[in-house]
Amino acid sequence: MAGTPLRRPRGTPLFSLEKVSKHYAGTDAGVVALNQVSLRFEPGTVTALIGTSGSGKSTLLRMLIGLDRPDGGRVLVGGKPLLPDEHLALRRRVGYVTQDGGLFPHLTARDNLALLPRHLGWNPERIDARARELAARMQLPPELLRRYPAELSGGQRQRVAVMRALMSSPDALLLDEPLGALDPVVRFDLQEQLRQVFATYANTVVLVTHDLAEAAFLASRLVLIHDGSVVQDGTPEDFMARPADDFVRRFTGAQRRLPQA
Ligand code: ADP
Ligand code: MG
Repeated sequence: MAGTPLRRPRGTPLFSLEKVSKHYAGTDAGVVALNQVSLRFEPGTVTALIGTSGSGKSTLLRMLIGLDRPDGGRVLVGGKPLLPDEHLALRRRVGYVTQDGGLFPHLTARDNLALLPRHLGWNPERIDARARELAARMQLPPELLRRYPAELSGGQRQRVAVMRALMSSPDALLLDEPLGALDPVVRFDLQEQLRQVFATYANTVVLVTHDLAEAAFLASRLVLIHDGSVVQDGTPEDFMARPADDFVRRFTGAQRRLPQA
């Protein structure tokens, strides 16, 4: 099944969650990370999962790639339930980037990029051509690929992490607060590049951020999670014009602006 886990009949959502619940054992009653969440992610769409810290966003994203398993409900990928031994195969078709990028520190940037393609049997020329193409897209000077992650700035490291996720032309890209650790200027530039990259390469994108403006800039659909439940699912305009409840109103209102001169 390598390389084909996401082949699906037309019209099937790439990912769907059906009443997915996840509990973690805790000191008292335990933590409900997800509570009967049902969502579909259609091919070719960009969705931002938003919500306060601890609301269940990362758990939801990890479910989509089989890194976490539901203890209620089910996750379908390409219309089929995700089997326990499939998550390695899935990693070839779904790129995943975390806040710290997750690059291997003992490998150069280039070798980080080459890991999966080499495993898939690509020759070095093909790997380098793809790396150069992605470096140009992400505006990363290609000579930096000779460096180790510790020799790169935070923004450069995240560019490499996104490039690594895109090397094998995945069907989907999952990003968990990819810009969360970056300063505002670097973050601003990377938002622009990510938007272009989404338009150019990625079929289906699910992105976690707690920044509403970033979510609205990058995604046409926002899903607000609170205490493990979906509170609102809609366009940025829906959130501003038709907030589902007081929590949504508070969330969208909790953005500071500079005082007017
Ligand atoms: P978010 O990404 O929205 O900040 P998470 O999905 O990481 O939230 O976490 C949701 C809830 O589940 C939190 O209360 C968190 O503490 C808890 N949680 C997440 N992962 C674990 C874990 N491995 N063990 C125990 N509790 C966890
Ligand atoms: Mg998180």
